[in-house]
Amino acid sequence: DLDSVAPSLPSISSSRRERRWGDTTPYAVKKKLQSWFQLPNGNWELGRILSTSGTESVISLSNDKVAKVKTEDLVPANPDILDGVDDLMQLSYLNEPSVLYNLQYRYNQDMIYTKAGPVLVAINPFKRVSLYGNEYIEAYKRKAVESPHVYAIADTAIREMVRDEVNQSIIISGESGAGKTETAKIAMQYLAALGGGSGIEHEILKTNPILEAFGNAKTLRNDNSSRFGKLIEIHFSETGKISGANIQTCKSARTAESRVVQCTEGERSYHIFYQLCAGAPPALREMLNLKSADEYKYLNQSNCYSITGVNDAEEFCVVKEALDVVHINKEDQHSVFAMLAAVLWLGNISFIVIDNENHVEAVEDEGLFNVAKLIGCGMDELKLALSTRKMRVGNDNIVQKLTLTQAIDTRDALAKSIYACLFEWLVEQINKSLAVGKRRTGRSISILDIYGFESFDRNSFEQFCINYANERLQQHFNRHLFKLEQEEYIQDGIDWTKVDFEDNQDCLSLFEKRPLGLLSLLDEESTFPNGTDLTFANKLKQHLSANSCFRGERDKAFAVSHYAGEVTYDTTGFLEKNRDLLHLDSIQLLSSCSCHLPQIFASSMLNRPEKPLVGPLYKLGGGVDSQKMSVATKFKGQLFLLMKRLENTTPHFIRCIKPNNLQSPGLYEQGLVLQQLRCCGVLEVVRISRSGFPTRMSHQKFARRYGFLLLENVASQDPLSVSVAILHQFNILPEMYQVGCTKLFFRTGQIGVLEDTRNRTL
Ligand code: ADP
Ligand code: MG
Repeated sequence: DLDSVAPSLPSISSSRRERRWGDTTPYAVKKKLQSWFQLPNGNWELGRILSTSGTESVISLSNDKVAKVKTEDLVPANPDILDGVDDLMQLSYLNEPSVLYNLQYRYNQDMIYTKAGPVLVAINPFKRVSLYGNEYIEAYKRKAVESPHVYAIADTAIREMVRDEVNQSIIISGESGAGKTETAKIAMQYLAALGGGSGIEHEILKTNPILEAFGNAKTLRNDNSSRFGKLIEIHFSETGKISGANIQTCKSARTAESRVVQCTEGERSYHIFYQLCAGAPPALREMLNLKSADEYKYLNQSNCYSITGVNDAEEFCVVKEALDVVHINKEDQHSVFAMLAAVLWLGNISFIVIDNENHVEAVEDEGLFNVAKLIGCGMDELKLALSTRKMRVGNDNIVQKLTLTQAIDTRDALAKSIYACLFEWLVEQINKSLAVGKRRTGRSISILDIYGFESFDRNSFEQFCINYANERLQQHFNRHLFKLEQEEYIQDGIDWTKVDFEDNQDCLSLFEKRPLGLLSLLDEESTFPNGTDLTFANKLKQHLSANSCFRGERDKAFAVSHYAGEVTYDTTGFLEKNRDLLHLDSIQLLSSCSCHLPQIFASSMLNRPEKPLVGPLYKLGGGVDSQKMSVATKFKGQLFLLMKRLENTTPHFIRCIKPNNLQSPGLYEQGLVLQQLRCCGVLEVVRISRSGFPTRMSHQKFARRYGFLLLENVASQDPLSVSVAILHQFNILPEMYQVGCTKLFFRTGQIGVLEDTRNRTL
């Protein structure tokens, strides 16, 4: 599972690091100048240069110590007056220690938000900070405050949606526990407050407790870790009121569902299981034959039942209320709870050996009894589905008995499938409830909350999927911020010295190319009956070694150069996880039982609209099974849908940062923060934004928007002349703008005066 391994620093080679991070401008070492000096533990300390001779300098450190250091190891520090600037763009020296220091300076004063050019950096406070609520919302709405905030981003999104008539997106990324989900909720809060009125905003906010109950779990890194990515599209009517919403989720299947049947010591399965066990009223308990959480194997294996500060029984009531609000009727709610209980009881089913070939059979105990009752099938049917497998060999159907391992796998696969379907069904119901009416004329703002780049000591299929997704997102980010920007300058005839930025197309091609890309090769190998993780790894090495982003490693491993650093993947389990087989017997069982599952299954398991993965393995069960797609292909499909939605929107980026791994307030670990800043390319963005002209407007629009502010008449009424007159009147310095053939380009912050005057005058 994602969170069960300790994170390690992504390995970025030093040359690459320098290219990306080192300030290449020569630093004239002057006496008394403040300078950063790196301590052996990696932290940076501020010193004052006392003297420099040759390649060595003497500096005084804060503790009155004096140190002799190599001059080239010193990194310039900013003057005190720049301490805690709210946009990193304002730093005179842009280097790692300066950025780290500035963020920390602010963080220590509970200023958790900082702009990095167009990007908002949010550092998790791990405590309640008084920055939210109606007063703050009002203040940001009136533009009475200017400090960086999620509210300010949401406000800009609304304004730009109305002004430009373009859909917007707020893209939130970061590591597990960095604060993405909280940030998404804060943004939703603002949108709901400004676009509220129809009542639907209340419903939209209530989707949070539901999705969190079913999709979040306690991990070692985050007590409320989301195990899925989420895109929520909020629709606004022409009058600016919220008219509906749509939620799309994105999971790398196994990553999310494996938690249902297996979790590490100290972690928990999905919240809803504990909530149900703790909070179900007596009548429901009796009907589901519910026990306490510690009596279920799926829940007691990790030895962790509660979360500090959380009352599961109370949360259960919150979730039930939320289900009412999104119009899931009592009967359906009951079915949902019954399915959850069925999953829990499945875990308690045990097996006994019945012959001398180690074949097993499910024991007829309360586990088997309760599952059969809850999903509405006969005990015998269930027993058969759990201990045998129908196979086609040549033209014959044979029934194969299962060994203990196979039977347990089958049982667990069944539990995972039920849970996966339940989740999909819930999202579908929520979407029906939030659906926008037929007159869908307005615009939308989408909020994306998605897991960030991951690099551990050992990286598996889950990291492979997640990092691929992040590679796609990064391209979206690059395209938007760098590529489009440059192209536009060039098109408009602006003098623009090209800024180098890292394009990750090569890495994406490595994943997506057909037939010789990582994903194609994985699917191909998954369909070979004799394919193993080793044959897969060898095939990769055979076909991809020429690719500069790929490197074959020892044994079954390979490495990929991601935008955020190189990651080595261990292919162990890749094929099995990608196949994710649910055997025909189980599918037949589920589609024939008398509970609600057949409907749930009908919509999600059996009628997959996407192109099926064909191959011998998938035909073993005959018919239905061959409709199943590989996990990676399904994931890629979900990702493409997601990116398609984002494509035509104006994006706003929020990068969440986790300052420590202990979920503890006030603790700011430089190394950890730095690693995350590197992963999301924050400094590059600042550097590029600073050197460019990020604000732009056509001559016409500029003249129309600000022309009425002119104090004197302009001889010619053509837009360019009017524009130039405005620029002069407002004393905008020549180096702060450029005049293109169709547009005016401004450095950051230049339009502010004009907008303020305009707003005051209107
Ligand atoms: P992620 O979604 O990135 O994994 P979460 O949004 O779940 O992370 O945040 C993890 C925890 O950090 C939350 O449960 C909460 O305790 C704390 N947290 C995050 N953002 C904030 C915030 N803005 N204010 C207070 N606490 C926060
Ligand atoms: Mg989350």
